[in-house]
Amino acid sequence: MMNKTNQCPLYKKCGGCQLQNLTYEKQLLFKMKKVVGLMGKFHRVEKIIGMKNPYHYRNKVQAAFGRDRQNRIISGVYQSSTHKIVPVDNCLIEDEKADEIIVTIRKLIKSFKIKPFDDNTMTGFLRHVLIKRGFSSGEIMVVLVTGSEQFKSKRSFINALLSRHPEITTIVQNINNKRTSLVLGDKNITLYGDGVIKERLCGYTFTISPKAFYQINPIQTEILYKKAMEFADIQKDDTVIDAYCGTGTIGIIASKYAGQVTGVELNKDAVKDAIRNAKLNNIKNINFICADAGRYMVETAKSGISADVVIMDPPRAGSDMKFLKSLLKLAPRKVVYISCNPETLKRDVMFLSKNNYKVRKIQPVDMFPHTEHVECIVLMSHLGKN
Ligand code: SAH
Repeated sequence: MMNKTNQCPLYKKCGGCQLQNLTYEKQLLFKMKKVVGLMGKFHRVEKIIGMKNPYHYRNKVQAAFGRDRQNRIISGVYQSSTHKIVPVDNCLIEDEKADEIIVTIRKLIKSFKIKPFDDNTMTGFLRHVLIKRGFSSGEIMVVLVTGSEQFKSKRSFINALLSRHPEITTIVQNINNKRTSLVLGDKNITLYGDGVIKERLCGYTFTISPKAFYQINPIQTEILYKKAMEFADIQKDDTVIDAYCGTGTIGIIASKYAGQVTGVELNKDAVKDAIRNAKLNNIKNINFICADAGRYMVETAKSGISADVVIMDPPRAGSDMKFLKSLLKLAPRKVVYISCNPETLKRDVMFLSKNNYKVRKIQPVDMFPHTEHVECIVLMSHLGKN
């Protein structure tokens, strides 16, 4: 475990690792205090689960491309809350292979005379590089985000990249020609391989496409999902809803224990991946619905369908009243709430705990060492059903 602090020279400029001034033990303590402060009144908080080696855990790495004042091509991250690129060649939390590939691409575009994109003039070509790496499969996807579709010397560029990094398993061109702070545009063109990577998690295989959400820390994700299953304690005839299901990971893992599982997700690409993942793992008792989770819950509650366990994993903004009110109508025996933002978690749990639900367990998991973020799983049970 590390005891040194401030190891990264870019600590202040980058702003990505807000807690790097603390030792890892102190970071865990800090996160524990944050969760206890917000959630402690509902229940005792279990000790946070940290990482043995809290470095290079990020399996998804993004770099913006541009030029510095001397007109040299640079790649790196945007300085927090600005649009200025801080050049990064290696980062303590990112996958090391991904960082290496990004440096190679930067050198290659120079020799190929490919221009980085300029956000001000909306000219140039390469905007971002996104790399996703399967931790257990070793598969690597490189996404070249470009400001226009026409890619001159495409073939020789790809060949040059592959000859330097034969470990790359697929290359995708994503076109983003809009004035936007979003990294990815809508159109993907597969240039090499099959446009996705596979990853193994909790004994299942998952497909990851360029756009769909996938947890960024594979080691801790397995721990998180196992805890969620332990909390859910699904019985063999149970109907389970996996709300905000992404590519279906939690629902697929839950399907082994359940009668029937329904996954609900808003992102079309993620739902496609989820359906593909269920097939890939030969799972028959799961279905996926592309919808706003709140609307789905309202309709399910109206239709009189029941649910025994609801697992919910919303984005940072948390859930909404539509969802929570319908959850109360559905009245599942157990609710397992996975959250990456303890503030919205507190707000939502407060509402449920005033309405027939009691918090039984709170487990923080450190999914994002060196950053201020903390993940939490909360088990709630229905007062009339337990
Ligand atoms: N459970 C998944 C994904 C969690 S991330 C996993 O562990 O991998 C949260 C997911 O919620 C994202 O995939 C996002 O696309 C989805 N989402 C965001 N708003 C939503 C909404 N209103 N309804 C349904 N899904 C939503």
